[in-house]
Amino acid sequence: ADSGVEGKTFVIGTDTTFAPFEFRADGELTGIDMDLIRAIAEKEGFEVEIRSLGFNAALQALSSDQVDGVIAGMSITDERKNIYDFSEPYFESGIQMAIAKNDESIKGYEDLEGKTVVAKTGSEGETYAKSIADQYGFTVKSLDQSATMYESVKSGSAVAVFDDYPVLAYGVAQNNGLTTVTDKVPGGSYGFAVDKGKNAALLAAFNDGLAELQASGEYDQILDKYLADPT
Ligand code: GLN
Repeated sequence: ADSGVEGKTFVIGTDTTFAPFEFRADGELTGIDMDLIRAIAEKEGFEVEIRSLGFNAALQALSSDQVDGVIAGMSITDERKNIYDFSEPYFESGIQMAIAKNDESIKGYEDLEGKTVVAKTGSEGETYAKSIADQYGFTVKSLDQSATMYESVKSGSAVAVFDDYPVLAYGVAQNNGLTTVTDKVPGGSYGFAVDKGKNAALLAAFNDGLAELQASGEYDQILDKYLADPT
């Protein structure tokens, strides 16, 4: 049966640096999301053209149909379901706060009073930080990229960053100069998104391919490639 995607090329928007989901290694876009979408495209017989736009820009591009889909460690939320259609969830995630590794002054949210924290424009981390900002008396500054957020914490222009915990954990394990001191806040799982009511065949092919990768063990291999404990 014709799946409606075979031989077609779809433009897929993603974040810039959101390791281990998307990042550049030797100039090439790599990561869990990149491996997943490429493997699914191969299984389902379509081509992908990846655009590394940044998270908020990718979501805007999807809303205005400048891209066909987004895979960007994008959490499935009820609010987003009003404007996008999501695939089956493919990775469990949530939010955590990170501070500079050598900062002894922040042990919890109560130490944020009068300080500035950073979060990514349009992200769940931003929503969460804003939801507790008044209670703890801190200011949220929004930035477009995780790399810039981490730099501002290390340079001291912000005391903390709110970002997805699998991404923070990956960076901390690579000695990126940050550490976590507060508990993880459970959030939405990641899903592949298309604009609401558009690209239904692409969404169905993603779900079909994802199920195949999960059944064959290839999904686990992709995760292990980036997340396996090296010890
Ligand atoms: N998972 C978070 C969200 O969807 C952040 C995604 C990202 O920064 N790429 O809001």
